[in-house]
Amino acid sequence: MIIIKKADALSQLLFEKKKNRKQTGFVPTMGALHHGHLAIIKKSVERNDITVCSIFVNPTQFNDDADFIKYPVTIEKDILLLEAAGCNILFLPPVSEIYPQGIQNQPDYNIGFLETVLEGKFRPGHFQGVCQVVHRLLQIILPHTLYIGQKDYQQCMVIKKLLSLTQLDKDINTEIVPTMRELDGLAMSSRNTRLSTDARQMAPLIAKTLQQIKENIVPGKIDTLIQTAILNLNNAGFKTDYIELANAETLERIDNWDVNQKAIALAAAFIDEVRLIDNIKIN
Ligand code: AMP
Repeated sequence: MIIIKKADALSQLLFEKKKNRKQTGFVPTMGALHHGHLAIIKKSVERNDITVCSIFVNPTQFNDDADFIKYPVTIEKDILLLEAAGCNILFLPPVSEIYPQGIQNQPDYNIGFLETVLEGKFRPGHFQGVCQVVHRLLQIILPHTLYIGQKDYQQCMVIKKLLSLTQLDKDINTEIVPTMRELDGLAMSSRNTRLSTDARQMAPLIAKTLQQIKENIVPGKIDTLIQTAILNLNNAGFKTDYIELANAETLERIDNWDVNQKAIALAAAFIDEVRLIDNIKIN
């Protein structure tokens, strides 16, 4: 695996590879890699000649300074894991390579409704930051396929919208990889390493609660089911930002469910000052 820190050097190298008809897969990450990331890397390695992974803790997508400062960094371990997974190129840029004009004065992306609900509502500015970094990375790398995780379901929708806004979707395919979980059901996340022992034991309750919604949902009004789920988490010590049932294609909230509606249950909750998110498709 080669490690590249300069955007121009990476673009140049990939340009040469593409001239030789090499298929490129790209996996953007913020590092502190776990098996969820590695599952995505492996998928790209299986299907492409070249897999590029980026590790960049993007300052513009953190709406909470403390979360940014505490974001885990394990770069040496990450390099070993990427090599073992068969990744070919690690892009490890400093902030100045991603934002050569500085982090201010970034374009505004018109992602509409997606920015007003769920993560968009609770993390103002977050998805603008995601669009800024993903747009820049895609311009540098121009992969054939971009690989992203269902764990961040709304982010997947935002990235798809970004690709269509920028017309990058003409050249770049997007593949969404299912969420990898720990044996107890907890969705793998870099932030899990920040959980205390007690909080780590409690954390799978988010996935269990979403699973219960899936098992108990019946057509009709679902407000009691959702309120019970929120109460369940809060009584166990979580501070729940939201639990919602939404249309799986638009993310519009569903208050009255019918079996023909493709739905997804999504949750965000703090435990121990650590904010975790998860989602489960209902049908
Ligand atoms: P992050 O480093 O958290 O920004 O995540 C980088 C990519 O890995 C994103 O596309 C995430 O959706 C994806 N990802 C994170 N956690 C998981 C997981 N548990 N299973 C599958 N993909 C994941």
